[in-house]
Amino acid sequence: MVDIIRLLPDHVANQIAAGEVVQRPASVVKELLENAVDAQAKKIKLILKDAGKTLIQVIDDGSGMSLTDARMAFERHATSKISKAEDLFDLHTKGFRGEALASIAAVAQVTMKTKREKDEIGTQLEIQANKVQSQQPEVCQTGTLISVKNLFFNVPARRNFLKSDQVELKNCIDEFQRVALVHPSISFELEHNGQLLFNLPQGNLRQRIVGVFGNKINEYLIPIEEQTEIISVQGFITKPEYAKKSKSAQFLFVNDRYFKHAYFHHSIAQAYEGLINDSFQPGYFLYFKVKASALDVNIHPTKTEIKFEDEAHIYAILRTAVKHALGQFSVSTALDFDLDPRLTPTSKAQKLVTAPKISVDRNFNPFKEAQSAGMKSNSASWEALYADLPEVENDETSEMHSEIPGLKSEATVKAVFFQIAGKYLCSSSPSGIVCIDQHRAHSRVLYEKFLNQSTPKESCQQLLFPLKLNFTVADIQAIGTFEKELNAAGFYFKDVATNYVELTGIPPGLEQQEVHNVLEASLIALQEEVPEEAYSKSDYLLRVLASQMAVKSGRNFKEQEIQVLFDQLFGCKEPQISPFYKKTFIKIDEAFLNTKF
Ligand code: ADP
Ligand code: MG
Repeated sequence: MVDIIRLLPDHVANQIAAGEVVQRPASVVKELLENAVDAQAKKIKLILKDAGKTLIQVIDDGSGMSLTDARMAFERHATSKISKAEDLFDLHTKGFRGEALASIAAVAQVTMKTKREKDEIGTQLEIQANKVQSQQPEVCQTGTLISVKNLFFNVPARRNFLKSDQVELKNCIDEFQRVALVHPSISFELEHNGQLLFNLPQGNLRQRIVGVFGNKINEYLIPIEEQTEIISVQGFITKPEYAKKSKSAQFLFVNDRYFKHAYFHHSIAQAYEGLINDSFQPGYFLYFKVKASALDVNIHPTKTEIKFEDEAHIYAILRTAVKHALGQFSVSTALDFDLDPRLTPTSKAQKLVTAPKISVDRNFNPFKEAQSAGMKSNSASWEALYADLPEVENDETSEMHSEIPGLKSEATVKAVFFQIAGKYLCSSSPSGIVCIDQHRAHSRVLYEKFLNQSTPKESCQQLLFPLKLNFTVADIQAIGTFEKELNAAGFYFKDVATNYVELTGIPPGLEQQEVHNVLEASLIALQEEVPEEAYSKSDYLLRVLASQMAVKSGRNFKEQEIQVLFDQLFGCKEPQISPFYKKTFIKIDEAFLNTKF
């Protein structure tokens, strides 16, 4: 048995600012959760009673402790994590002072059960006001369970100083979220007075944020990534529309630790200037990585402020990165034609009258079908790109509208559609040109269509003779698991055997000989980790299917097809990005041209 805890030499102990570790239940929550993370737990459960005043219990499935370590852990400056002061600057663990457990045990009744994987029997320890009450062998699971009861039972003044349950619970939840948001690969639960408040399964960062803040935030998250020599920043910011009155969705982390930084906050808020009202707050979840030497490690136990070596630089980097990320998405505001009373009724009515009939291309025409399947179509939406430009009085448009009584002719500008280099589709008008990337645009259209599950069996290509395809056992299993998603994309199966499937319906427009490739490529992707862009395995599958099935560059478009793709793209909820966050279109307007001449 190798014991791993050492006592820090005195001089080191003195180098470490002591300070009060335990001020309120939330401080205990923080220390216990961090210990569980440091112990490499995969699953951590936090149980609170009366906002932690009566009970704070943390159960983890981490490394556990030996008999001796269990006892040592409660000694002041007992830590397995550092042995000399320099180690402080190269820390990969959360705790290092070796005083949390000692401090907690000084002001509460603590029970700990712990067992290492290799031990058959664990140990149970009871400590109260720093005195060991009992230690005995205990049959328990690998990992550690710590119960902290009746905090400040022996310091009535401190106990009276505690705030209402509501406030103390909020503080506990804050600490819980700060730890949970850094470790999406660990599953967390939080239960308060018998009620499960958070259940966060293991996942990627996006899933974790959604788990903490609720499904609604998902569509407002904008990924951000910036690599420079002094710092790398990644994570998410929220779209301006998500802005809140409170700062509850603002998180900065450096090297996996939560911190507060008024100056950096200011830089982020600056980037949103003009996009959100002054009294509202943007949301952000930003993860910095810097060399440990570039940080002024403040080892005061309760402070969350951190100083960086190069703050002015980081300020600028941050502001640019946020602005850049917002820029990729800001068009969505310009496209919000539903809010523009001038455009909505005209365009929809006009659509009914003038929508061109598209001739069916027997080889591949993904657009005809999408319309008949009820795809939202709105020709005014992309034209609304020009909405901020001065209007042009145009006789042709009034002619178009004259068929609809009571409608004014001011909204639209007649567009011309053409293709460039077999991969970009353009629409021109007197005020400018919009160019879309045909593959990315079509991927976006298909992805949103799959999300809406709008490929009913009837609109698929029904196969008279089922198409039999061989797959690996793993792929076949995946087909079984994700049948719903595959149906949404237009794949219908009759028979799923151990090493082949029979398809009775395939997506409209997809050639039979392509089916195997598309399915295989999509299923292979499922074997990878879900990337940050995707919300879940099934969401990832839909994104991959959409890009697999979308038209490739090199496909020639007829003018009317171009118009249909424009309509479909700008009928999407997020027309500006492909399912993999690539930009789908650009605008060439007068301002752009002026810079070229
Ligand atoms: P620190 O985390 O600063 O080292 P603590 O007082 O929080 O100090 O913990 C003391 C020691 O107890 C840790 O270094 C670690 O070895 C051990 N320990 C505490 N909690 C756990 C746990 N949940 N699982 C395994 N070991 C733990
Ligand atoms: Mg600790």
